[in-house]
Amino acid sequence: MSRPATGRPAAGRPVTVGVLALQGDVREHLAALAAAGAGTVQVRRPEELAAVDGLVIPGGESTTISKLAALFGLTEPLRAAIRGGLPVYGSCAGLIMLADKILDPRSGQETFGGIDMIVRRNAFGRQNESFEAAVDVSGVDGGPVQGVFIRAPWVESVGADVEVLAEHGGHIVAVRQGQALATAFHPELTGDHRVHELFVATVRSTG
Ligand code: GLN
Repeated sequence: MSRPATGRPAAGRPVTVGVLALQGDVREHLAALAAAGAGTVQVRRPEELAAVDGLVIPGGESTTISKLAALFGLTEPLRAAIRGGLPVYGSCAGLIMLADKILDPRSGQETFGGIDMIVRRNAFGRQNESFEAAVDVSGVDGGPVQGVFIRAPWVESVGADVEVLAEHGGHIVAVRQGQALATAFHPELTGDHRVHELFVATVRSTG
């Protein structure tokens, strides 16, 4: 089966998608979003957050992102923006930050929330147990995406309003609730921009 060409921006209204640039693989998300046809900007301050049509929370280390968000005065503005319907997409650490509840938070670790799910950090194992696997993602056409799992979390359980988009090994690894999308894996590292295209389509259809 031929895979749809990536890097071909989908048509639609121009949108600006921010990437939360406190820690993590910010550059990779900026590149994937640009390839998916969005304007991009790094977000570190509440004023920058207020100016975007959607926001990506990158992979990295959720405990660090949590700490830095508090330090930069972003935790409450981000929570409010997500509650207010700002489209958000989180990969890996970003998925953890979008969980309403984490099973094993580091002391003081706070999430932004937005998805009614319980997440287990590092569930798939440690750094040296990282792996890649083909993952079918509901809403992404053209065959499975290559899931890159790096100290990846999984979703233990979801509330009634959460749609499960993908599972791997019997565990939930991609979800969506309204305008919030999250994957336990890292599409930004693969050069396949279909998950980012799905998110940009959500941003375009919002607001
Ligand atoms: N285990 C990391 C965390 O707790 C996530 C790893 C990742 O983003 N690749 O944030």
